[in-house]
Formats: sequence, structure tokens, C-alpha cells
Amino acid sequence: MTQHLVLAGGGHAHMVSLAHLRDFVELDWRVTVIGPSDYHYYSGMGPGMLGSTYEPDEIRFATRAQVEAQGGIFVRDTIVAVDPKQRRLALASGAQIYYDLVSFNTGSSVQLPEISGDQERIFTVKPIERLYEAREVIATQSTLRPLKVAVVGGGPAGAEISGNLRQLLVESSHPAQVYLYAGHRFMGRFPEAVRDKSRSFLERAGVEIIENGYLQRIEDMRLVFDGEQSEALDFILLATGVHPSPFFKAAGMAVGPDGGLLVNRFLQHVDFPEIFGGGDCISFQEQELDKVGVYAVRENPVLFHNLKAMIQGQPLQAFDPGGDYLLIFNLGQGKGVLRKRWLNLSGRLAFRIKDWIDRKFIEQFQ
Ligand SMILES: Cc1cc2nc3c(=O)[nH]c(=O)nc-3n(C[C@H](O)[C@H](O)[C@H](O)COP(=O)(O)OP(=O)(O)OC[C@H]3O[C@@H](n4cnc5c(N)ncnc54)[C@H](O)[C@@H]3O)c2cc1C
Repeated sequence: MTQHLVLAGGGHAHMVSLAHLRDFVELDWRVTVIGPSDYHYYSGMGPGMLGSTYEPDEIRFATRAQVEAQGGIFVRDTIVAVDPKQRRLALASGAQIYYDLVSFNTGSSVQLPEISGDQERIFTVKPIERLYEAREVIATQSTLRPLKVAVVGGGPAGAEISGNLRQLLVESSHPAQVYLYAGHRFMGRFPEAVRDKSRSFLERAGVEIIENGYLQRIEDMRLVFDGEQSEALDFILLATGVHPSPFFKAAGMAVGPDGGLLVNRFLQHVDFPEIFGGGDCISFQEQELDKVGVYAVRENPVLFHNLKAMIQGQPLQAFDPGGDYLLIFNLGQGKGVLRKRWLNLSGRLAFRIKDWIDRKFIEQFQ
């Protein structure tokens, strides 16, 4: 019987395997790709889509079309459970899919806090598609008073989202107040120069940065912190950090401290050699990796090689995460902040470099 390769999620770490999917088909394997949407959205350009710099079709990959054009099967569904002993995936529709070899790239999601009252005006920053929904609703609001919009999260995602929200509201001529609730310390993980530049761009653009601790819950569109509560808000965007897909832990599989699929240096699960993974959903045993697209992208050639090697009985390749990586934040209104080792650059040039790199990446895989 034909053996079955499943690519579970068509995220950033599967780009090369998806582009060369025909290679697996030519090895006489049946190939199935599972994802909740016919498209995969490039997260690096998500904040820019919120700010209207990009339209959705400029930042997404047509996964279904790419799979079908190469003789693969695309299943639009969401994986909800995995049974590694039976080699079986359970999908939200109730369907079950059996595999001989599987690679997970299902990413991560934002955990919702306890919410009472209205939920319709609360958006999480993942999946990235949600940012377009937020843009459509926020930009078309008509109120006589200024809108009050809060972003929660003091990391790069919170900074990018609040800056681009400001851009959206300025361009749609909406009087609005944008608050960034940045935990205990805005961009606390970053060097002083990056924090100061980012803060000054955002504040000059009209974002009010508030550092009053972690969000506990949301009550009737008010943010509740330790002993404090915000005023009532019109919209809330949550960028409070991401967690890997929950089904590995739920299946009792070996996972890392954050619940990610625990993989060895070959990006292969430590107990099940027929299971691989990449991107935000894994926990790399050798060293902790930041949840950034950079690593997902770097994992591509290794995953592609190793899946083929498993099929052909060839040696596996080890993943080398590499050294420091380039980070550029898009803070809206054409401004960016760039950091690479000792190099810091900010302003329009930083944004232009990011825009160029991101467009090249999209072009390469679109
Ligand atoms: C607002 C924002 C901006 C960011 N900007 C940058 C940046 O500029 N540079 C950078 O390096 N990193 C950035 N990051 C981090 C980056 O988003 C992640 O590290 C990156 O998306 C990880 O890629 P991934 O493929 O693992 O996950 P994802 O991009 O989340 O892709 C996962 C894919 O799997 C699918 N999927 C999800 N769940 C399931 C399921 N249960 N079943 C089947 N399919 C599923 C999804 O639809 C998606 O297509 C940003 C993050 C955010 C939130």
C-alpha cells in the first residue's frame, strides 16, 4: 500500500517542503497537507496589513493551490488531537487521518484571559488573519467621540500592533486614543537603545504606553490588572505572548517546558522517529529557541531533507539554529527599528529594509 506523508499545518517551516511537494509524490508517497485555511499568512507582514500598508493577498501563500498543483491533497481542517501510537490525527470536522510519516508546523496561539461580557471586539494577534478582521471593523466604526483602543502585550508584537493601529486610525481620519499596556516593562528583553527608539516612535505617533503589570482578566471591555482597572474600551487587541499547539501535551507525548513538541537536533520527536516538526509548535531539545519566524525559516531545508531521507533510508541532517538574527520592527507610518548584534538603526531606512526583505520572501514562495 502507498505510504502516507502528512504535513500538519502549512506554516513558515514547511515552505520548502511545500514548494517541492512533487518530490515526495514522485517517490510514490501519498502527500496530504492539513490547514484551517487555503492560505498561509506571513506573520512578519501582519502588523503592516493591520495598518493598511499591505493587502491580505500581498502577504499570503496560496497553500491549497500549491499542494494540488503538485499532486498532493489539501484538507481544509484543524488538527485537534494526535495519537502517536496509532499514528492518527483527529480533525475538528470529526475526520481522522492516519500517517506513516508526519511533520508538524501548526504554530502557536495567544491564550485568552478570563473574559466576561462582550467578546466580539476583542482580537488576538494570531492567527494573523484576525488582524484583517480587526482592521475592517475598527476602520469602519462611526462614533462621534474618539475611539479608545487598547493593545495588551509589552513585546515586539504589541509594539508593532499599536504603531500600525495608530497608522490605520490616522489614515482613516478617526479620532482615537491608542493605549499600549506593556506589562511591567515595555520591550523588557531588548537593549536600551532599541527600547528607547521604539518608545519614542510610538509616543510621537500618539500611542500611550502604560506599564502597570500583567492583565488578569477582561470585564465588560475593561482590562483588569492587579488592583487596577482600565476605562471601558471600544476594542482590545491581545498580543500577550504565544503558546505552542496544545495537542502534543494533551496526547501525553514528550514536550518541552512550554508544551511544544520535543524534538532532537534532527527536528525529530524524541520518542517517535516518524514525527518531525518545526516553527513555534516545537521545543528544540538542544537549546531554547525564541518564538520567531527566523527559526521556522531556517528549519526549512533540514525538515525537507529529513522527510526525504526518512523515505529513502538516508542519513538525517542536524539543525543548526545559527547565531544572532536580524530583527526589524515595523512601528507604523513608515518607521522601523532594526537590531542585529551591536548594530541599531531606526527610522524610514529600517522600515524600507524590512519591507524589501519581507517582499522578497513572499515572492520566493508565492
Ligand atoms: C504580530 C506578530 C508579528 C511578528 N513579526 C515577526 C517578524 O517580523 N519576524 C519574525 O521572525 N517573527 C515574527 N513574529 C513571530 C512569528 O509569527 C512566529 O514565530 C512564526 O509565525 C512561526 O511560524 P510557524 O510557521 O511556526 O507558525 P504560524 O505562522 O502560526 O503558522 C502555522 C500554520 O499552521 C496552521 N495551523 C495552526 N493550527 C493548526 C491546526 N491545529 N491544524 C492545522 N493547521 C494549523 C496555521 O493556519 C498556519 O498556517 C511575529 C508574531 C506576531 C504575532
